[in-house]
Amino acid sequence: MLMTTSAKNQKRIAIYGKGGIGKSSTASNVAAACADEGYKVMIIGCDPKSDSSITLLGGKRIPTILDLLRQNIDVREKDIVFEGYGGVKCVEVGGPEPGIGCAGRGIIVAIQKLQKACPSMSDMDLIIYDVPGDIVCGGFVAPIRKGLVTEAYILTSGEYMPLYAANNICKGLAKIDTPLSGIICNSRSVTREEEIVRRFSEEIGSRLVAFIPKEQIVQDCERDGFSVLEKAPRSDIAHVYRNLAKAIMFNDQSILPGSLDDERLRELTR
Ligand code: SF4
Repeated sequence: MLMTTSAKNQKRIAIYGKGGIGKSSTASNVAAACADEGYKVMIIGCDPKSDSSITLLGGKRIPTILDLLRQNIDVREKDIVFEGYGGVKCVEVGGPEPGIGCAGRGIIVAIQKLQKACPSMSDMDLIIYDVPGDIVCGGFVAPIRKGLVTEAYILTSGEYMPLYAANNICKGLAKIDTPLSGIICNSRSVTREEEIVRRFSEEIGSRLVAFIPKEQIVQDCERDGFSVLEKAPRSDIAHVYRNLAKAIMFNDQSILPGSLDDERLRELTR
């Protein structure tokens, strides 16, 4: 079923996908590309390693909201919101302490704090949530359940495991009645990768919105603490991120995704 969502003033998106597939790298490059276009952007990460914001802040780590709350600090905007490349507002929710609690609940507490401390949040054109992507976990559904996210994207490569996770995420989105706005392929240089991910996208009723080729330059920029848009703005890959950013900002179509059975999934990747 194809639904056309009405144009909204503020886009609030989340990028889901298997751990380690490149969500933070994609999110920060999209944030930078949108900032370059003049949009007001906020990125909210909840990776304990601050992966979402670090490349927008020249390699600097920022305190996480959960860490400050654990220290009983009454957080103010200047303690948790840091301006990075192109004026992107960077926030890190932080992860759970090992063995204790769940960032799913933490995300909500932290966002509520953020909304209180940072009224300009409602002014943003784009808010990107870079959240844990495992379907079984609270981190996955928390921002959606609270109405914080209005568009979901899934990042995958053409390998079986990331596609398996993507397929699971589709099942989860359908179960909680949340539309999917598209699939992004972050290439791992698998044979026929674009075709595999395109077919997967079509078979679940969605579409491939971007194919990001595997380029060493992305890792090189990251290692130096920069997004590709900042460090290598004329590279081909910067152009790919710019196109993805455009596709997201102008997207007005979302679907409740279907999913594939395991046999079909394996067949696709064979
Ligand atoms: S359930 Fe999910 S969000 Fe909660 S701690 Fe585990 S992985 Fe993180």
